[in-house]
Amino acid sequence: MKQLRAIVLFVALANIALVAFLLLRTPAGQPETGPRSIRDAVRPLVSDAAMDDSAYDLEARADRMNIIFISMDALRYDRAGFGGNPDGLTPNLDQFAEEAVVFSNATSAAPWTLPSHMSIWTGRWPSVHGVTNKLKMLSADQMVPTSLSPGIETFPDYLIRNKFTAAAFTGGAGVQASFGFGRDFTTYVDDKPFAGFEHSVPPALDWLSKNLDKQFFLFLHGYDAHGQHPLLGISPRDAVPGYNGTMDGSIEEQARLREQGLATIQEPGQTPDLSSAVSKEDVAFLAKVYDKKVKMADERLGSFLAQLRAMGLLDTSIIVLFSDHGDEFLEHGYLDHGATLCEHQLHVPVLMRFPGYARRNDVSAPIRTIDLFPTVFDALGIPGPAGVDGRSILPILRGKPDDRAVLAETDYRLFVHQRMKRVGDKKLVLDLEDGGKQLFDVRKDPDEQTDISSSSARETYEMEQALRTWMDATRTNPQDYLGVRQKPIELF
Ligand SMILES: [Zn+2]
Repeated sequence: MKQLRAIVLFVALANIALVAFLLLRTPAGQPETGPRSIRDAVRPLVSDAAMDDSAYDLEARADRMNIIFISMDALRYDRAGFGGNPDGLTPNLDQFAEEAVVFSNATSAAPWTLPSHMSIWTGRWPSVHGVTNKLKMLSADQMVPTSLSPGIETFPDYLIRNKFTAAAFTGGAGVQASFGFGRDFTTYVDDKPFAGFEHSVPPALDWLSKNLDKQFFLFLHGYDAHGQHPLLGISPRDAVPGYNGTMDGSIEEQARLREQGLATIQEPGQTPDLSSAVSKEDVAFLAKVYDKKVKMADERLGSFLAQLRAMGLLDTSIIVLFSDHGDEFLEHGYLDHGATLCEHQLHVPVLMRFPGYARRNDVSAPIRTIDLFPTVFDALGIPGPAGVDGRSILPILRGKPDDRAVLAETDYRLFVHQRMKRVGDKKLVLDLEDGGKQLFDVRKDPDEQTDISSSSARETYEMEQALRTWMDATRTNPQDYLGVRQKPIELF
């Protein structure tokens, strides 16, 4: 009898196990559809406490979620501690990165402030939104200030028209409201050219304290690390002792060197060349002054981020922290940025923090800065402007394969006309004036010292054809102003 009971019990348990197995297993041959919401995408990365709250679903809370964009202008990726820099220049950003998605392969659409930010604002490539320079040519001898075409929507404007309260606190100059950035904003601070966070953070905090009850979009921007923002409170020579050369590290000197470099462009296809004008010691000094500026920018931003936390805004806001471009210290013959498409200028830090995050999530897949707003809109489940070039990054966070094209452009002050396309590790730089092309393997050769276009002729040809096809299809081939070399410096 006992034996029979044991057999019945065994059969019953075996049946339960079999049913459980059949219920829990993934059906064979059926592709995994993957999670659909941001909640599922970020589940492994948020704190247990946050996940216990079944309300952790950004789409469900979209009508209460704020959006905060922070631009630390001209921050090179290789200066960020979270990007591997060992010098401790960005401790506050590093701390923020511990609770964020950290993108190690983000590329800016342009190597200078105005077109880069406008690409973020619109989710479009520079020649598509058309704000490629501060001045626009009407004819060979007439130029007028540029402003975004009314026919092109911006993501912030879309938010404003959908009941968000929007405010921007910026360092002016390349992000002045008049270029189209300030469309429909009630508050847009751009009164001081090349101002840093010392100028933009205090009014931003004041504004936040008065608008906590609203659903808002906030844009904070500072030129602290930029060559046109002075090192505050200390002279560069005092800040970098031991230098015996003639440089003073001032903003006037930086502007002079920038123009001196541009003046070396005499023929179409050339890029600026300062290699004979500054010594290695000079460049090392200027790079150290830059590093000091980065450290100060990090301190100022650190106090802002601490205030966001104290106000409880980390739980109610998606925060995107980025730079618009890097800077060059003679790696390719130039100082400053804008005139070439080297990685030192295009590779930018991007951090994205969603409410509830408790852990760092490193993403090495290539992304573009035009993807930032589409990602936030996707996370909140709200539609955005139609027909944009940017795409949500959320599928990448969910581990999906991705093949988005990485492009960049510069028509910097009409001195140069270059386009870049990256496919995998290969990067093609095309000069539109003389047809010159260079191909680099940015994984094996991150400093882009070896042009492999001759040894990879077929690949170069195919990438160029793809790039030119895209330019023709988007009607962004700038044939009209190629060769124009009238550049009144005071107008820029
Ligand atoms: Zn900039």
